[in-house]
Amino acid sequence: MKAIIFGPPGSGKGTYASRLQMKLDIDTVSTGDIFRQIMKTDSPLGKKVKTYVEGGLLVPDDIVIDIIKKRLSEIPLGKGFILDGFPRTLEQAKALEKVAYIDVVLLLLVPDWIIIERLSSRRICRDCGAVYNVRYLKPKVDMVCDKCGGTLYQRSDDTSEVIKRRIEVYEEQTQPIMEHFKGKKIPFVVSNCEALDTPPEIVVEQMLKELRKLKLA
Ligand code: AMP
Repeated sequence: MKAIIFGPPGSGKGTYASRLQMKLDIDTVSTGDIFRQIMKTDSPLGKKVKTYVEGGLLVPDDIVIDIIKKRLSEIPLGKGFILDGFPRTLEQAKALEKVAYIDVVLLLLVPDWIIIERLSSRRICRDCGAVYNVRYLKPKVDMVCDKCGGTLYQRSDDTSEVIKRRIEVYEEQTQPIMEHFKGKKIPFVVSNCEALDTPPEIVVEQMLKELRKLKLA
């Protein structure tokens, strides 16, 4: 299965993608994660990327497309993958079409109030990337990862001003891509999120049920 997982910031793309990855033995590619790694380096590219990410803006297409092409070329032929956070512009969608055929779009519909609530209280493990929430998905020990004992931190773009900008960017630049994929007749699996505390397993089970119908799981 070659899939795109699509939804606003804070819709749970990373959480669902990593669970589907384990269940289906496929790869996940998160451009956000790739950029956060690049930002840790003191390179000119790291500094450039940081100004966009921390401003809640999209990294320029030429940089994103180069990185994704390289990452996709590392996936063994015939192995499935889920793209998390890519494509985010029409230009990126067109570049993707030249290198891969997408079987399905997993679309997450989440109201703004849930996004803001989730992102402003989200914490992430510095070591293994596990996601927590200081309100409703607390670690057992304050700011310590249950899974690996790493320290939790708040992403620099999970602050209220930047969250607002990211939502605007999603609505203006990213959502129009949906029309593009619909026009290409690529099947959609739509998950509606209406509560803050729906366990991820339930959403993932529903996705798998739909993917089985499409013979992709
Ligand atoms: P995410 O972890 O997917 O929320 O991405 C975090 C940030 O990384 C975004 O707000 C953008 O600044 C940048 N980013 C991630 N993926 C892309 C992409 N496909 N195109 C442009 N910028 C991206």
